[in-house]
Amino acid sequence: MIVLKTRREIELLREAGRISAGALKIAGEAVQPGVSTWEIDEIARKYILKQGAKPNFLHYNGFPATACISVNEEVIHGIPSRNRILREGDIVSIDLGAVLHGYHGDNAATFACGKISDEAQRLIDTTRESLYVGLSKAVGGGRVGDIGAAVSEYCESRGFGVVRDFTGHGVGRNLHEDPAVPNYGTAGRGARLLPGMVIAIEPMITAGTYKVKVLPDGWTTVTLDGKLAAHFENTVAITDGACDILTKCD
Ligand code: MG
Repeated sequence: MIVLKTRREIELLREAGRISAGALKIAGEAVQPGVSTWEIDEIARKYILKQGAKPNFLHYNGFPATACISVNEEVIHGIPSRNRILREGDIVSIDLGAVLHGYHGDNAATFACGKISDEAQRLIDTTRESLYVGLSKAVGGGRVGDIGAAVSEYCESRGFGVVRDFTGHGVGRNLHEDPAVPNYGTAGRGARLLPGMVIAIEPMITAGTYKVKVLPDGWTTVTLDGKLAAHFENTVAITDGACDILTKCD
């Protein structure tokens, strides 16, 4: 069931989104050679708590941390660890959110650790650009399929893979709500986008196959061929015009 949000609810979601975006920003700034993914998680956790919010990934279906931190061939849901020390040339996807007054924010970005390869940079740039291509299709009156069709066309025409096993989603009083927002699809198909809908659009893009597998820890999702992956995400409100990005910091 798709729940439309009132103006007041969208302002509450914007507040949660602002804290989520601030946490993502400082977590990204901490990405450096020699830093553990656990340290980055701690920085994000402390920031969210200091803002009076709570990390909404922590304990979600048993997830043990504030942020999903996924390095190189890890696509999503990497578990922060004291033993995972970042190295020059890594690419680091951080996905996290905050809940405040019962409303959720969710956002993600991929960061370079020191100097990275041209191929890795091109993957990160294309993934970020594809998020904005998707956002440009997130307009009232459109269809969910418009978003995925545009994201996949953008990435696949540049030689990248589009992960299919995981999708974007509605956001509200729950971190994950209807509708699913795939990064592939057919324009003109799927649920109608209506003003008041709030969705997370989150392309997960790979340098090789789009196929992924979940490691035995039950969380960490990696590319099947071991090639790099990147991930960007914003939570947005649908309006009659351009979508309203809620995961923005000051
Ligand atoms: Mg999400």
